Amino acid sequence: MSTSADASVAASTAYEPVIGLEVHVQLLTASKIFCSCSTRFGAAPNTNVCPVCLGMPGALPVLNRKAVEFAMLAALALNCRINETSIFARKNYFYPDLPKGYQISQYDKPLAEFGYIEVQTLNTGGTGDHRVKKIGITRLHLEEDAGKSLHEGFPDSDEKTAIDLNRTGVPLIEIVSEPDIATPDEAYEYLTRLKEIIFYTGVSDCNMEEGSLRCDANVSVRPRGQKELGTKAEIKNVNSFRFIREALVYEIARQEEVIEAGGKIVQETRLYNSHEGKTYSMRSKEQAHDYRYFPEPDLLPLVVDEKWKSEIAKTLPELPEARRARLVKEYGITEYDAQVLTISKALADQFEAAAKAAKNPKRVANLVQSELMGRLKAKGIEIESSPVSMKGVAASADLVESGAISGKMLKDLYDLCFERGKDFPEVYEEEGRPRQSSDTSALEKIIDEILAANPKQLEQYRAGKKTVIGFFVGQVMKASKGQANPQMVNELLVKKLERD
Ligand SMILES: [Zn+2]
Repeated sequence: MSTSADASVAASTAYEPVIGLEVHVQLLTASKIFCSCSTRFGAAPNTNVCPVCLGMPGALPVLNRKAVEFAMLAALALNCRINETSIFARKNYFYPDLPKGYQISQYDKPLAEFGYIEVQTLNTGGTGDHRVKKIGITRLHLEEDAGKSLHEGFPDSDEKTAIDLNRTGVPLIEIVSEPDIATPDEAYEYLTRLKEIIFYTGVSDCNMEEGSLRCDANVSVRPRGQKELGTKAEIKNVNSFRFIREALVYEIARQEEVIEAGGKIVQETRLYNSHEGKTYSMRSKEQAHDYRYFPEPDLLPLVVDEKWKSEIAKTLPELPEARRARLVKEYGITEYDAQVLTISKALADQFEAAAKAAKNPKRVANLVQSELMGRLKAKGIEIESSPVSMKGVAASADLVESGAISGKMLKDLYDLCFERGKDFPEVYEEEGRPRQSSDTSALEKIIDEILAANPKQLEQYRAGKKTVIGFFVGQVMKASKGQANPQMVNELLVKKLERD
């Protein structure tokens, strides 16, 4: 069965794409990698600069220890091996936003190597089920960012380009994958997992709009079954994972078409135009850079000993995949909800803190599932913007737990929270209390009726079988269609039962 399915897949596509990704991540240090200038985003142009990051003659770089530690933490989270000795190198090229005329990076001896990320990937057998695939990480190295050319936003922008050097010298890690990625969907998965893991470690905010996370993709196609790689094109500067996926889909089809028509793929850098959904040639191999790498003479080799490495390893938080598995097990929630609750470490922390502070942690998890997620989905609200916070869910769970509100009232209060855009405790103050107290006389009437209708249980209670009160509470709750306050029902019942 499965062989025929594989055969049909193979027959439908004569070519196999090979994709590798290079991701640049900005590290969240307060100062730059080789000087003490601030890394703050949004400062006035060219205000966070000094002789070192401006590349003035005679200025010497000093390595930022925090940048190294952040890079180590990211490397460990990505299952990399950290090299005891790594070497900074000069990558020489001329560009207006690079004042030194070279970028300090790492070349043949990077900080870390041989890592991997696990991604869920669709089984090619056509069965629709998922399997876990390891995508190799070739290397993770430290480098400095370049400045930024501003081609618009000034009165004379049609004739001049402005340069902002605030970003020059901001610490980056570059994470290079093995060409293990077989489809645009896998590339998307890889990037999503990578971002999630890095975000969890706290070494970067991974903000793509501010350029804290950038991605380039290398892609080639080859006849299915061929060992040798085809000629690759590099797609640069795509600013969202969705666009990367689209750019890859387009580029794979384009390369297949060229080969089918008897043409040859040229090695080149291409840009993706997201409005048109197409890639365009930016520069060909003839114009490609020769970076003339050589070891940076102004910096010593970076040595990471076992002690330092283990100190950093101790600060590695529980990573998203492990945390999801634990949440499912510990709180009995679904895989989907665990996925939503772990989109950021902060949210997962909030959930767990709220659950642990509540009387019954599982009830918090249940309410997140039964009351929160559905309403968020229906209204198209992201969980970070939920009107009801995790603390609010915990407060509501405690109110149900103590019997202060019924399940029906809880649902109504959640509806009101979403209507009013307010958190649970606030809406409960506005709504919950007055409604309960006004019910007393109606409730007493119901209780009288229930007691009258169940003489046998009444007799049992008065004969000393106090647990029968549970039966009466249940009957009253049923008669009130869940509207009654169970705690109040309990109190009124005791009062009446003990009266004579
Ligand atoms: Zn500086």
